Amino acid sequence: MTTLTRPDVRARLDLPWTHVDDHYVAGAWTASTGRTRIDVVDPATQEPWGSVPDATPDDVEAATAAADRAFRDGPWPRLRPAERAGYLLRIADEVKKRAEVMAWTTSRENGTPITETLGAASNAAGIFRHFAGLASHLESPDVRAFPGGNAESLVDRDPVGVCALIAPWNFPINLVVTKLAPALLAGCTTVIKPASPTPLSLRFVVEAVEAAGVPAGVVNLLTGSGAVGDALVRHPRTAKVAFTGSTPVGRKIAAACGELLRPVTLELGGKSSAIVLPDADLDAMSRVLIRSCLRNTGQTCYISTRILAPAQRHDEIVDMVTRTVTEAKLGDPFDEDTVFGPVATGAQYDTVLDYLASARAEGARAVAGGHAAEVDRGWFIEPTVLTDVTPRMRVAREEIFGPVVTVLRYETVDDAVALANSTDFGLGGLVFSDDQDAALAVARRMDTGSVGINFFASNHNAPFGGRHDSGLGVEYGVEGLSAYLSYKSIHRRP
Ligand code: NAP
Ligand code: MG
Repeated sequence: MTTLTRPDVRARLDLPWTHVDDHYVAGAWTASTGRTRIDVVDPATQEPWGSVPDATPDDVEAATAAADRAFRDGPWPRLRPAERAGYLLRIADEVKKRAEVMAWTTSRENGTPITETLGAASNAAGIFRHFAGLASHLESPDVRAFPGGNAESLVDRDPVGVCALIAPWNFPINLVVTKLAPALLAGCTTVIKPASPTPLSLRFVVEAVEAAGVPAGVVNLLTGSGAVGDALVRHPRTAKVAFTGSTPVGRKIAAACGELLRPVTLELGGKSSAIVLPDADLDAMSRVLIRSCLRNTGQTCYISTRILAPAQRHDEIVDMVTRTVTEAKLGDPFDEDTVFGPVATGAQYDTVLDYLASARAEGARAVAGGHAAEVDRGWFIEPTVLTDVTPRMRVAREEIFGPVVTVLRYETVDDAVALANSTDFGLGGLVFSDDQDAALAVARRMDTGSVGINFFASNHNAPFGGRHDSGLGVEYGVEGLSAYLSYKSIHRRP
């Protein structure tokens, strides 16, 4: 049993927000009307260090009413898009000022290594700036001639209304900002509900919105359980829902929105594959492996946790993956050398250990890891590489969301593509090859929303979304903005 020591980060851990009793409603931090609280627990120590209120039905009423008033009567939807873009640029600056405290809070909430969370503010600022840059897309009058030429249509892009933004715990800042930035540029108003394990870090984004001078009621924040998310999804004042989270919850939200005919964007789970072509450069692959296949201790929706290895290079690939994973440090998230932290919650810890037990029972072999880490506290799991994995095993088909990769063997490239396309999901994917043309041809055959060639990263300028059980609709790009717009065509004879 090892003792994981926390570096001396007392100053960092002197965080401004720990135990809070308010939500952000109508432009002010407002005490919750209820007494039920949700603890915030440090996954590396299992110590509760903060708490937030669980929003009551009255809190939900107040937040949705504020967003509705700001939409119907407030200035925000009536500003010119370029004016709203000015606010987005100011929010970006204000978010960047809060980078460190935001990072420390996030790492303490969900155990993400500090080297990762320190990038969250500049990433968020980049997303606000990206959408600010799309203002011209909303400004220009869009006039379309009738086919006969004797009349024309003005195509207006109206904001859709009050948006409920519901986020998971793995990237609590980014996965709200990907929704908030386009919603604000479009002229919508919002009610945000972060995940229960990560309710505090988002307060810095709200603080940045406030410091940028965004009018009251445009952005509201409620903390609380899944029931609060459900109440927002179904609330009569909600006009659109944007959700990132698990596929089972996404299905429930889709069902509710289907009944209500309410537009919804869903970014859900994944089980993505990295196809290693026979000519791949394994040293180059090793350098991007953790970012592409195990980012954030394996708790990233798009990572390629199934590595598909050509039979003739299978053992060499297993050796490279094993070496890369075992050389990366498991440790306290506040240690700058840490690559793998704890998993974020006790529930996730149990889920991942259950998958590891299923792998053993079904005949897979752990060539690295395979068990809970031998440390004195915290939800740490050994980074794990599984081989002798067949496509029918649960670990080959289901999302694990922990530090586990599987290596599967293939004979022909056609088999590899079929294997990659054989899950219920379609979110990410990778092709490793030195031959750009061959890699592109394989990437085009993969039935998924995004594929990387020799690296994976999402691009603010390009749509990101899942196929099949990985979701509905896209975020980012001009396509991600259209989810917050309602089109109106006005026909006239000039
Ligand atoms: P989750 O359980 O689906 O929860 C996501 C959010 O929904 C949380 O805020 C949760 O609140 C809330 N919620 C729970 N039940 C709800 C309901 N019935 N109606 C409305 N909202 C409800 O997901 P998670 O455990 O936080 O995150 C892990 C999952 O997210 C993984 O499966 C992962 O793949 C997926 N994910 C997908 C993407 C993507 O972009 N595609 C990105 C990141 C994560 P509570 O926290 O209070 O339960
Ligand atoms: Mg959950």
